[in-house]
Amino acid sequence: MSDTQSIDLRSDTVTQPDAAMRRAMAGAEVGDDVFGDDPSVNRLEAMAAERVGKEAAVYVPSGTMANLVAVLSHTRPTDEVLLGSQSHIFNAEVAGSARIGGVQLRPLPNDAGGGLDESDVEAAIREPNLHTPRTALLCLENTHNSCGGQVLPAAKTEALAAIAREAGAGVHLDGARIFNAEVASETPAAELVAAADSVSFCLSKGLACPVGSVLCGPSELIDRARRERKMLGGGMRQAGVLAAAGVHALEHNIERLAEDHANARTLAEGLGRLGPFAVETPATNIVILRVLEGTREGWLAAFADQGVRAVPFGAGRIRMVTHKDVDAAAIDEALRRIEQAVAAA
Ligand SMILES: *Cc1c(COP(=O)(O)O)cnc(C)c1O
Repeated sequence: MSDTQSIDLRSDTVTQPDAAMRRAMAGAEVGDDVFGDDPSVNRLEAMAAERVGKEAAVYVPSGTMANLVAVLSHTRPTDEVLLGSQSHIFNAEVAGSARIGGVQLRPLPNDAGGGLDESDVEAAIREPNLHTPRTALLCLENTHNSCGGQVLPAAKTEALAAIAREAGAGVHLDGARIFNAEVASETPAAELVAAADSVSFCLSKGLACPVGSVLCGPSELIDRARRERKMLGGGMRQAGVLAAAGVHALEHNIERLAEDHANARTLAEGLGRLGPFAVETPATNIVILRVLEGTREGWLAAFADQGVRAVPFGAGRIRMVTHKDVDAAAIDEALRRIEQAVAAA
């Protein structure tokens, strides 16, 4: 790692397709996926569904579209969706569900682990009557981005899903980083998402694809999701060039997430020793620094001056995410540079 090279910890979305992935993409067999003719897309969808224990899957351009298509497929306009106050769907998807789905998003307080309180969910379920929106969907998130990459245990997902199911509502799990949860908890993704009807996950984050997410669930729901995807303009043609990256990632890039988690722990320990930051031990690949001395903007600028990139993450918080393109040596170098920034402050 040269002195001048920037170490980009803004997100695991910055990962670049490596040579083997590019070869898989270049050699992909393709067809028109809107006609269902793309063998590489069909292969990715089948692999994804199998990997998370669902009947069917649909390939979409982004995690945001996967969640929107999921909400559209589970609801009709005027329905209500229960979800965490810190969830990505509520905070970081431009209120697309409200605008395009015509649903009401009803946030419930997230606990520190990214879960919800069973009693809050129970209390939020609507009694059907003339005045109320229908409680149609509960959305959960695993790993939980804003809560620092925490893993939602299968038992918690089951308990919350049971309340929704009892009320006749569906359950969608935003599993953008579900394989980080699988690797960190040594629990198969299929087990972590078993209680949810649908699950979406990103190929473009730690799995290191250039593009893409997958929504998985029962065949009937996925048939509807295909229509919703088409409406949103997400029906792509020779998309197999992209899907081939996903197939490659599912085969090669899941187990290695353990390295990202080890690097995140090293990074957190090093940062915690410096003094100006409170850092909790990360559960997966997301490290959150709470700024104790100085300002968030001041530190972000000081890190950037040293060639370490991070992002603001709520008041007084900075996020760093480890990923495939930042190895253990680069983490040591990042810590050296940040130590210099602290010494100079
Ligand atoms: C990144 C992310 C998404 C959205 O994915 P994009 O591909 O960036 O649209 C959804 N949910 C969570 C939890 C995420 O971290």
